Amino acid sequence: MTVVTRFAPSPTGRLHVGNIRTALHGWLWARAQGGRFLLRIDDTDGERSEERFVAAIRADLAWLGLAPDGEVRQSERFALYQARFDALVREGRLYPAYETQQELELKRKVLLGRGLPPVYDRAALRLTGTDKARLEREGVRPHWRFRLDEDAAIGWDDLVRGPQRFDPATMSDPVVRRADGSWLYLLPSAIDDIAMGVTHVVRGEDHVSNTALQLQMFAAMGAAAPAFAHMALLTGAEGKLSKRLGSLGVDHFRAAGIEPAAVLALLARIGTSDPVEPFVDPAPLVAGFAFDRFGRAPARFDEAELAQLNARIVHQLPFTRVATRLPAGMDADAWAAVRPNLHTVAEAADWQRVIDGPIAAASADREYLAEAAAAAAAIGWDDDPWHALTGALKERTGRKGKALFLPLRQALTGLDHGPDMAALLPLIGRERAIERLRA
Ligand code: GLU
Repeated sequence: MTVVTRFAPSPTGRLHVGNIRTALHGWLWARAQGGRFLLRIDDTDGERSEERFVAAIRADLAWLGLAPDGEVRQSERFALYQARFDALVREGRLYPAYETQQELELKRKVLLGRGLPPVYDRAALRLTGTDKARLEREGVRPHWRFRLDEDAAIGWDDLVRGPQRFDPATMSDPVVRRADGSWLYLLPSAIDDIAMGVTHVVRGEDHVSNTALQLQMFAAMGAAAPAFAHMALLTGAEGKLSKRLGSLGVDHFRAAGIEPAAVLALLARIGTSDPVEPFVDPAPLVAGFAFDRFGRAPARFDEAELAQLNARIVHQLPFTRVATRLPAGMDADAWAAVRPNLHTVAEAADWQRVIDGPIAAASADREYLAEAAAAAAAIGWDDDPWHALTGALKERTGRKGKALFLPLRQALTGLDHGPDMAALLPLIGRERAIERLRA
């Protein structure tokens, strides 16, 4: 069996961190199993779906490195849905219902008032042909419900949540199609999961009750159901469902200098019992991915943790991976020198300015620096000038530790902290270094 997973966003907005995590889990499982990861654009809602969001979803997945192995769009598959619909109507599993929203709301209130669960009473199933003909003549268009089989207990072994049981008698026959002919999510999704050969549906636990309904749809269409993994939801660092998470997406990460690798490394591991580790490449995430690593408690997404993880990843990025994003003039040696001091790749530009100058240096230690300038002119620069310079100054002045090093760093870089001077000084070079020590 080839594993097939799918990520099925609705193009009604940008992907946020929760969607990205869902996509990543499907991608990781497909990669771990040598399977396929498909993108399904859930755009049956023509009014709310927008082409720019379709393009953004593709671009965001590409930036993350989660390129799908194929793509389908629900808006191109209405003929398939109609064919399945017609068959299910013929078999009596879909039936027309004519109640208005207000009527349904009233029924709900009456049941709740009597302390009963607000399950749809199936009044529409009791309509005669004459009733229906009259309603249609009056211009009432039906919506369509899927008739649940109340005798067929619903259950599945969820890959994350374990055994799940639902009693169909406590559930309303779900509406699958509106009176205007448009589709609701449930049935097209099940039809597509069958047609696309999806073996594993990975999604958030907010879909658990949908799964119960869809399992009967799979059965009604004579198809084996895929396996399901319902992930616990994401919360903010404070452990609460957070509005902010809904607005955090690829644009935000890019602007904050977050590497795609950091997003993947964090989102692959939060909610599991495994440590979050700074992987530059996703191979270890793929190798270590398993649904049973995930707990049922919400996973915490902490932006501060992401920033820290990002720095640890930046510290490992090879020059070839970042070359096109570095400031003009920054070569492999300069990258190696400044890399340990960065939180983001973009900060490399700050260090390139320190290397190239001009810098605003302020050091009071004039006499010492004059001596340093003389020493800098006297030493050889080919091999480790920093040790040559500080060695000479130590001998001449008797200084050591901070008194020896800090005035040099300040004069040479304009800063109290920064990359290893032994790596930085050759990049600054003899002429500029002497000039800065004399200034
Ligand atoms: N379009 C649905 C959503 O975004 C897909 C859910 C699913 O994975 O089946 O919630």
